[in-house]
Amino acid sequence: MPSPLGHALAGITAGLAVAPSSPDRGSRLRSVLLFGAAGAAADLDLIAGAHSGPTHGIGAAIAAGLLVLALRAVWTRGSVAPEWRLAFAVSAAYASHSVLDWLGTDTSPPIGIMALWPFTDRYCESSLHVFSAISRRYWLMPEFLAGNLAAVARELVILLPPFALVWRWKERRSSQLAARRSPGS
Ligand SMILES: [Zn+2]
Repeated sequence: MPSPLGHALAGITAGLAVAPSSPDRGSRLRSVLLFGAAGAAADLDLIAGAHSGPTHGIGAAIAAGLLVLALRAVWTRGSVAPEWRLAFAVSAAYASHSVLDWLGTDTSPPIGIMALWPFTDRYCESSLHVFSAISRRYWLMPEFLAGNLAAVARELVILLPPFALVWRWKERRSSQLAARRSPGS
C-alpha cells in the first residue's frame, strides 16, 4: 500500500480537480490541507487495528463528503447554501485513497481492501501492482529504510505529474477569477 505522502498527494490532486476554483489564496490553502487529510484519512483505521476494511470503501468516501457538508452547515449556522461541489471534492479526495491502495501491493493478509463496502465486504486488489508496499516493520533495518524510500520515490514519479497539471490549471483559473473580481488591478 502507498505511503501517507502518496495518499495525501493523490487526495489533493483529486480534490482540486473537482472543487470549484477560488480567487482567494487562503481558501485555496485550506482546501489543499482538507483534501490532503481526506486522501490519507482511511489509514487511521490502523490505530483501531482493523486495517483496509469499511474505511476503505465507497460508502466511507460518500460519508466523508456528507460529514464536511454537515460540519459546514453547523459552522455557518446554515447561513450559506450547501456546498455540494466541495463535498463531492472531499469524497473524491477520500476515494483516491482506495484507488491507490487497489493499485498497490499488499503484503499483509487480508490482501486488498473492501473497496465496494457497503455493497460487498469482499477484499479486492488489482494485479497491476503500480505502487510498491510500504513496510511498517521498522525493526528490519536497513531494508525498512531502503525499501520505503524506493517506494516513496516511485509514488512521487507517478503522482507528481498529474498533481502539477491540476495545480497549474487551478492556479490559472484562480488568477482569472481574481482578475475578474478586481479588473482595475
Ligand atoms: Zn489504505
